[in-house]
Amino acid sequence: MSAEGGATLEQVVTALCEHESFVMVSHVKPDGDTLGAGLALGLGLKQLGKRVAYFQQDPVPRNLRFLPDAGAVRREFGTLPERTMFCFFDMSDVARAGPFLPPFDPARSLNVDHHLGNTRFAALNYILETEASTGTVVLRILQALGTAMTPQIAECILTTVMTDTGAFMHSNTTPDVLRTSARLMEAGADKERITREIFANKRFSAQRLMGEALARMRFDQEAGVVWTAVDAQMLAQCEADAEDTEDIVQQLRVIDGCKVAVLFKAVEPGEVRVSLRSNGEVNVQCVAAHLGGGGHFRAAGCTFEGALDGAVTAIAEALRAEGVAAKMPAVPV
Ligand code: 5GP
Ligand code: MN
Repeated sequence: MSAEGGATLEQVVTALCEHESFVMVSHVKPDGDTLGAGLALGLGLKQLGKRVAYFQQDPVPRNLRFLPDAGAVRREFGTLPERTMFCFFDMSDVARAGPFLPPFDPARSLNVDHHLGNTRFAALNYILETEASTGTVVLRILQALGTAMTPQIAECILTTVMTDTGAFMHSNTTPDVLRTSARLMEAGADKERITREIFANKRFSAQRLMGEALARMRFDQEAGVVWTAVDAQMLAQCEADAEDTEDIVQQLRVIDGCKVAVLFKAVEPGEVRVSLRSNGEVNVQCVAAHLGGGGHFRAAGCTFEGALDGAVTAIAEALRAEGVAAKMPAVPV
């Protein structure tokens, strides 16, 4: 065991070599990191002749369907071999896999992640908090396994990096990340294609929804908090769906003077999904943790059970507890 109570790379490699059947698990509301990381390790294990299935509760988002093996992702499968190992990617808690996760043997589980505050829920926990994406944690595992870096694997891993660095704009874009990305491009990852598929492929309805959300946003300039909300009615008006909300919070964060951006999504009855982004002063992972959520210093989320008004009040309280005296009165929808 390493210092933080995690597994060593050698232990991870030994466990992967000892098993023949795997299920790669990505989190609900999947992004390019959780999915790309699982696909990359899955493709590597297939090279070694292993049997690999991919579980994801939600459908593959439109902008990730170009990924190799994305068509093999399932919500349900038939009977799995008895000694199947479940591998979890990019989730600080197993609950992030969703309630439809098939039963698995906890003794045969691997948790690969880079989140702060990972609950280390698996038998083997390989958590590197300094990595820009879970995909680059997988890259270390693949290198230790000695699998070939194919263009397909490279494309999956570059997708994880571009997702979690906001296409190389976020502060986690270190010289190492750029060097790794260059090597992935040399191995055949098509950066143009990833950019086009993930970042320049917006539906008309998504941009209409963006307009509606920006028209309703509020700014507490003193506290540096920008927030807005979308609800089911707004989605219906724009002929948009929950996937079309993805980029809104980033557009709040880029506003001059914004320290914390908050998007409230009241799309499902009885719950509000909250997305938080920080410019680096405030740790939004701590803010989300007050409501049972988590994430990273600069990007976090949580789910509030109740109505929009209650969610806004709860986030304002959580922000105050973290030293941000935000006045967040009116719900803008
Ligand atoms: P997003 O706002 O894009 O949904 O999520 C931002 C970050 O916070 C991601 O790294 C995501 O994994 C994490 N996150 C979002 N929602 C939750 C949650 O409910 N619980 C935990 N633990 N992490 C979350
Ligand atoms: Mn990630």
